[in-house]
Amino acid sequence: MSFEDDYQVTSKFSEHTHDFLSSHLIAPTPVNYSVIYLYISNENEMLSAAIDKTLQRGELITADFIADLFKRYVSFTQQIENTILAPFEQTLSDTLEQIDKQVDNEDKAATNLQKLDKILAKSKNNASMDNIVSYLYNTINNTKAQHEALSQKLTKTQQEINQLKDKLASSREEALVDSLTGLLNRRGCDEKLQHLDHADTHSSLAIDIDHFKKVNDTFGHFIGDKVIQRIAKTIQSHIGEQDIAVRFGGEEFVVVMANTPITEAKKTAEKIRLSISKMKLKQRDTNTYLPPISVSIGIAQNDNISEWTTLFEQADNALYQAKNSGRNRCICA
Ligand code: GH3
Ligand code: MG
Ligand code: MG
Repeated sequence: MSFEDDYQVTSKFSEHTHDFLSSHLIAPTPVNYSVIYLYISNENEMLSAAIDKTLQRGELITADFIADLFKRYVSFTQQIENTILAPFEQTLSDTLEQIDKQVDNEDKAATNLQKLDKILAKSKNNASMDNIVSYLYNTINNTKAQHEALSQKLTKTQQEINQLKDKLASSREEALVDSLTGLLNRRGCDEKLQHLDHADTHSSLAIDIDHFKKVNDTFGHFIGDKVIQRIAKTIQSHIGEQDIAVRFGGEEFVVVMANTPITEAKKTAEKIRLSISKMKLKQRDTNTYLPPISVSIGIAQNDNISEWTTLFEQADNALYQAKNSGRNRCICA
C-alpha cells in the first residue's frame, strides 16, 4: 500500500474511533482511544471478541471495561506502536520534511529578492518596483517564520511521541514482570515461551515453599514477602541466561530450563533446594534468625509434549509427590 492509501485508511479508522467514543460517551483518553482504535481496525482478535460480546449482550462499554481490556490484551503487545503510532509518525515526518523544504525555498527566494533590491536601489528611477520587491521580501520572510514555527511544533510532537514510546516500552516491561521479585509473571512466561521450540528438549521445575503459611502466621506478611524475594534471588542465581524464571503464584515458582535434559535440571534443582535450606534470614528489628526455610521441587521434561501446560502439570504432579513424601526434596516426574 502506498503512503497515501495508508494515510487514508488510518484516517478513516481514526474517524470511526472518534465516532465510537462519542456515541458511547467515552472520553478520548489515550487508553480509550487505543483500545477502540484496535477494535475498529480489527487488529486484536481477543479484544474485538470481548467488545463484540459485550455489545451483543446490550451492555455498556465503560471506561473500567476498556481499562481492563487494555491491561489484558494491549499493554504487553507492541500494537500501539505498530498500529497507531507508526502511521502517525510517518505522516508527521513526511509533513516535517515538506515544511523544511518549503523553508529552504523561501530562504532562497528571500536571498534573490534581497539581491534584486540592491540592484534596484542603485538605479534611482525604480521606486515603485523597489516597493514591490520590499513587499514580496517581507511577505516571504513572514511565511518563512510561520513555517519555521510550525516545524518546531512538529519536532516537539515528534519528541513527545518518542517519550510516549519509551513509556509504553517500560509499561510493557512492567506488565510482564512480577513487581515483588522482579521475576517474570505468567504473562511474561507465556511471552518468553513463544521463543522456545517444542521440538527441542527443555525441562521445567515447579518450586513451592514449604509450610509458608506458618512463616506468615508467625512473622507476618512483610517478612513473608522478604522470604519470597530472597528465594526468587536464589533461584535466579542458579540458572542460566536462557532459562526462564517465573513467579507463578503467591509462593510458587516455575523455572523453564531451555535445552536442558531432566538429568541436568535435577542437578540445578538440588542446588537451589540446598542453597535455600542453608539460607540465613535475620530479622533486622529483633536481630534474631528465622527458622530454616525449605522448598519442594517437582521436575519434568517435555518428551512428546505439545503444550507447555502439560509440562507444567507433570512438574506439578512431581511437586505434589515431593510434598507428600516429606517436603524439602526434589522429585522427577
Ligand atoms: P505447603 O508446604 O503444603 O506448600 O504449605 P504452605 O503453608 O506453604 O501452603 P499453603 O498453600 O497452605 O499456604 C501458602 C501461603 O502462602 C498462604 C498465603 O498466605 C501465602 N502467600 C501467598 N502469596 C503470598 C505473598 O505474596 N506474600 C506473602 N507474605 N504470603 C503469601
Ligand atoms: Mg503453594
Ligand atoms: Mg507452600
